[in-house]
Amino acid sequence: MELVINNLSKTYANGTKALQNITLNIPTGMFGLLGPNGAGKSTLMRTIATLQDADEGSITLGNTDLLKQKDEIRKVLGYLPQEFSLYPKVSAEFLLNHLAVLKGLSNKKQRKEVVEALLHKTNLYNHRKKNLGGFSGGMKQRFGIAQALLSNPKLIIVDEPTAGLDPAERNRFYNLLSELGENTVVILSTHIVEDVKELCTNMAIINQGQVLLKGNPIQAIEEL
Ligand code: ADP
Ligand code: ADP
Repeated sequence: MELVINNLSKTYANGTKALQNITLNIPTGMFGLLGPNGAGKSTLMRTIATLQDADEGSITLGNTDLLKQKDEIRKVLGYLPQEFSLYPKVSAEFLLNHLAVLKGLSNKKQRKEVVEALLHKTNLYNHRKKNLGGFSGGMKQRFGIAQALLSNPKLIIVDEPTAGLDPAERNRFYNLLSELGENTVVILSTHIVEDVKELCTNMAIINQGQVLLKGNPIQAIEEL
């Protein structure tokens, strides 16, 4: 499975050229998207997450046209935004269970197994009864992964995930992500070069809406 972005462009109503002819091939595994503030990372991530339209160009995942077959893509998409707007007054277990109902997991016993497995996988089992409003930044991010995994995603989009996480939380989060990357396209947007070097098999640097550099992180970053 490969995500193919071809000549993608987006100009906002105020004239800002956020994306200019972006072309990228993103295979299964962890892909790092680097760039300074204002480079266009969030615009690109939101477009891939089907939350926003582009003006020109295409994005395909396998045979699916991501900009046209949005419902198809949403079934296999996990999106972890920068800031979670979680329901603060419900517990992690309650919300996951509820989301599993919405996903069509109607068998109660099966649903309980799925939810518990996700809570264990993300190290949140001991916090399952806690209200989400009391979660730390790292716990919220891990909850985001649990939530994303409910859809068995083929594509996971992670937008600047580690802002505000302490190093231990960051490592836990990245370990989980790397595990997912083995058979999923995971796109990680960040401005931390070291994270991309450490985690990603491929990467691109964008600046002012254009691809500056793409390739293998170690080689590409050395060329800078
Ligand atoms: P679109 O072209 O996708 O319709 P718009 O240009 O209409 O997007 O902007 C969408 C919203 O984002 C507007 O409410 C706008 O005020 C707001 N916005 C404008 N400039 C910025 C900016 N630099 N960063 C983030 N949001 C902005
Ligand atoms: P990054 O995530 O790399 O910081 P963004 O995609 O948020 O970059 O922004 C790219 C450019 O588009 C910036 O110049 C930003 O100010 C502008 N921008 C982002 N959202 C909007 C919007 N809704 N309306 C107008 N300009 C926007």
